[in-house]
Amino acid sequence: MDRLTRVPGLLYGGDWNPEQWPEQVWAEDVKLMAEAGVNLVTVGVFSWARLQPDAYSWDFGWLDRLLDLVHRHGVAVDLATATASPPAWLVRAHPELLPVTADGIRLEFGSRQHYCPSSPAYREAAVRLTRALAERYRHHPALALWHIHNEYGDHVQECFCPASAADFRRWLRERHGTVDELNRSWGTAFWSQHYNSFEQIEPPRTAPGPVNPTQLLDWRRFCSDALLALHRAEKAVLDEVSPGVPVTTNFMSMLKALDYWEWSRHEDLVSDDAYPDPADPRAHVNAAMNYDLMRSLKGGRPWLLMEQAPSAVSWRPVNVPKPPDLHRLWSLQALARGADGVLHFQWRASVAGAEKFHSAMLPHRGTAARGWRQTVRLGAELRRLGEIAGSRLRGQAAVLLDWDSWWALELDDHPSGRMRWLDLLRPWYAALHARGITVDFLPPSAEPDGYPLLFAPNLYLLDTATAERLTRYVRGGGRLVCGPFSGIADRHDHIHPGGHPGPLREPLGIVVDEHWPIPDGTTTAVRLDGTKTESTEPDGTEPGGTELRAEHWSEWIETEGAETLARYTSGPLTGLPAVTRHRYGAGSAWYLSCHLGADVGPVLDLPLAEAGLNAELPGLPPGVEATRRHAADGTGYLFLLNHGPEERQVPLRTPGTDPLTGTDLLTGTPTGDTLTLAPLGAAVIRLPAAQERA
Ligand SMILES: [Zn+2]
Repeated sequence: MDRLTRVPGLLYGGDWNPEQWPEQVWAEDVKLMAEAGVNLVTVGVFSWARLQPDAYSWDFGWLDRLLDLVHRHGVAVDLATATASPPAWLVRAHPELLPVTADGIRLEFGSRQHYCPSSPAYREAAVRLTRALAERYRHHPALALWHIHNEYGDHVQECFCPASAADFRRWLRERHGTVDELNRSWGTAFWSQHYNSFEQIEPPRTAPGPVNPTQLLDWRRFCSDALLALHRAEKAVLDEVSPGVPVTTNFMSMLKALDYWEWSRHEDLVSDDAYPDPADPRAHVNAAMNYDLMRSLKGGRPWLLMEQAPSAVSWRPVNVPKPPDLHRLWSLQALARGADGVLHFQWRASVAGAEKFHSAMLPHRGTAARGWRQTVRLGAELRRLGEIAGSRLRGQAAVLLDWDSWWALELDDHPSGRMRWLDLLRPWYAALHARGITVDFLPPSAEPDGYPLLFAPNLYLLDTATAERLTRYVRGGGRLVCGPFSGIADRHDHIHPGGHPGPLREPLGIVVDEHWPIPDGTTTAVRLDGTKTESTEPDGTEPGGTELRAEHWSEWIETEGAETLARYTSGPLTGLPAVTRHRYGAGSAWYLSCHLGADVGPVLDLPLAEAGLNAELPGLPPGVEATRRHAADGTGYLFLLNHGPEERQVPLRTPGTDPLTGTDLLTGTPTGDTLTLAPLGAAVIRLPAAQERA
């Protein structure tokens, strides 16, 4: 990470596409970058056709001049390998590299990401280009970071061509060893799907009816691996030719297609592209969730917001701009959740192409535009916050996220098609966010022992090793909160026999007799008992409890040692347990048998109370987000972000304690008992190490 940490403070800048402009414009660009405080630009993301005009020649002269120019002006470069959009000459020479859909349609040249992930021709050309760039620029003083490809899986996540079929068969051989084992794993005794050899297997192309679910699940795994293999091929070249320069590829927040736990093992630095929608009043909650994941992918190490829009994007049906102060607030939110820099797509607004209406740091109107003043102001503020670079924050609790389970959960032919991972996760995350609780995400392979509380909104697919780990965690004193339709299937998507939730039945102390999906447009009433923290069996029918509504999903469950905390009070399950807690070993295991949506908060309050977890800063007004980063020397950085439209008074004191006296780094002023936040306002308060320890 040496090269990148040479850039002092927080990283600020964006994608710069100078190949779209005459060189006279570059001189103005670097002058304005200095004015805005830009210290890192991403160059060359879509430059393949310019760098390699045909199969036999290279044109690096312009990039030489460009890198020299930015270096003279003190700007570092995140240099892209330019492999996300293969040029026309390569496509026409190798038409077989174009991707093919499940319906057999070959996608044409004329957009981007038009390649088959398993195409030898594409891969060979991409690696060749990466090597040429690495050999030419590995010692260039402007080079701070390598940027592989761009947004893997954005447009093309799978390909059904013969090359992909062959690659899939190779992958299946590695995974299953023999075709007999594959037949067992895929359950091919069903519907006469038995294979005599790997050669008989094809990708899950469009078929007359439902396709074998384990074939589909293996396909999802293979598609993530196939794109990762491309990334790893470029990474290997960069590591070999340009050691010591960190490498990243820009992730796309919580993307179903790619198992980012596996991907991030091959990243030196996690970076993310995030485009919260200004028209969505809950956008900042989803953004917080995505940023928590990015921080968690490398165990809490700082990450980089590689792309965000200064104002509107150009690819939604309606592209709403960001009102004044919102872009600043959302940039600070990324820092509040562990980022060490905020970059943008893009530096200078394009005048041609599919993204010409996408906002930029330097808008079409030029330096007279509101957007330009915003760019300069944010750059100046980030310089004032430079000392937070490298500090970290750690979640108070953890959330389990398993891509395997996500893929398997959303396969067809389940009791309800309404059980989608993000729909299950988001209300839980939103409830925790509203309560000021910061969470880390964990992969299923992690030991959760360092966290007092572990949330699993859904674990449809649960292998025995993970189940044993979770059981040990609870027995050892942990608190596991498990959502519905969990512990259903093993890693081959075969049902755990003997009653759901399979291997979690013992720690949860319940058994599911039958899944009972709730029809669309209707809800089922659930009453959470008033004596919620008592360990005695509560009477769920007594008045005084909290009324909740379950949607989409409920279950007929019976307790096997667990106590009932909430019961169904309407519909066919009336009187049956809806939420349970099982004291198990030194810990407790909680089960929610229904999808409570926005009503889940009062239920999550119970394990939070049991774990003694409170908001980072108690007494926060609604709409104000608070997180705290810590530097190695103990200095704390308290971020306060007002996402609401009204001015807010934030108490900087917990009851019975001294006020948090520090300095707001944005204004340079000392803080007192309370702090006033304007609508969309923010503060970043430095808290001295001594006070942090107290
Ligand atoms: Zn293909």
